[in-house]
Amino acid sequence: MRAPPDPEALAQAIRSGNRAGLARAITLVESTRAEHQALARDLVQRLLPETGRAIRIGITGVPGAGKSTTIDTFGSNLTAAGHKVAVLAVDPSSSRTGGSILGDKTRMAQLSVDPNAYVRPSPSSGTLGGVAAKTRETMLLCEAAGFDVILVETVGVGQSETAVADMTDLFVVLMLPGAGDELQGIKKGILELADIIAVNKADGDGATRARAAAAEYRAALHIMAPKSLVWSPPVLMISGLTNLGLDELWAQIGMFRAKTEASGDFAAKRRAQGVKWMWTLLQERVTDRLRRDPDLKARLPAIEADVASGRLAPMVAVEEIARAMGI
Ligand code: GDP
Repeated sequence: MRAPPDPEALAQAIRSGNRAGLARAITLVESTRAEHQALARDLVQRLLPETGRAIRIGITGVPGAGKSTTIDTFGSNLTAAGHKVAVLAVDPSSSRTGGSILGDKTRMAQLSVDPNAYVRPSPSSGTLGGVAAKTRETMLLCEAAGFDVILVETVGVGQSETAVADMTDLFVVLMLPGAGDELQGIKKGILELADIIAVNKADGDGATRARAAAAEYRAALHIMAPKSLVWSPPVLMISGLTNLGLDELWAQIGMFRAKTEASGDFAAKRRAQGVKWMWTLLQERVTDRLRRDPDLKARLPAIEADVASGRLAPMVAVEEIARAMGI
């Protein structure tokens, strides 16, 4: 990378919507180098007053559910209506396999060349926590750059949905119309996270199966404890391919926002997310410190073995480690 940029100049470039500036800032955020991280922190803090105005939408679905297709069409509808749309991804598998499920920009053929859209693949290194951290900071940079709709996409596997739900205002779950036994393969947890369920591929021959699937999801939601007093997750039928139901999806997102803003839930959720975020970062930092300290790292296996064999009480082990860390 070139000489370190002046943070205020870079912040100004981002505020004015300069894409090269935004890309450069995201590169800083994603860098693991300590001086880049320090710059990124400085930058995010400077831009903080300009953040928070976007609607932050999480989108999940199993591979093949139609996330790319739907986001491409949905995002294009929004830019045509005057919005600026950023698409970010959380895909921790990309660091393990070297190839990202969500990383390929060409998946979104229209949006990736749309001047009012910005498509950013998942950061390709680190733990889920690390990937989510970078995506969250990137989201703030995009907001400061004037993007008013942030779509954060993740694959419907593992813990990544929770990480995305923790950084977004609402969570849209894309479902496939199955062959009748829809609920079998569905984790209850994902329904609990959903604020909107959209059964995709409700076009052509798929319409009947989508209708049956939607009825099953409605029934399943009906017997679950409501997670909000002001919002019951609707089950929509959409087609990312033919644009069916995507206006309704946007309308529902608007209704979610209006209702939760009126009740105070919207702001309360963001406040809680910010605080939770702080603690997550702190935990990561402490763990990181532990891993990086060579003396401590060398001692840890023995301490762990002593705890495992019952020679050392866990609380005594923690005291020993904490003291060595100076905390
Ligand atoms: P992702 O893995 O969730 O991103 O799914 P993709 O967007 O890549 O879609 C997987 C496959 O489903 C592709 O062959 C798409 O063309 C197809 N597909 C996606 N959305 C729809 C839809 O609404 N209707 C139909 N018929 N096919 C779709």
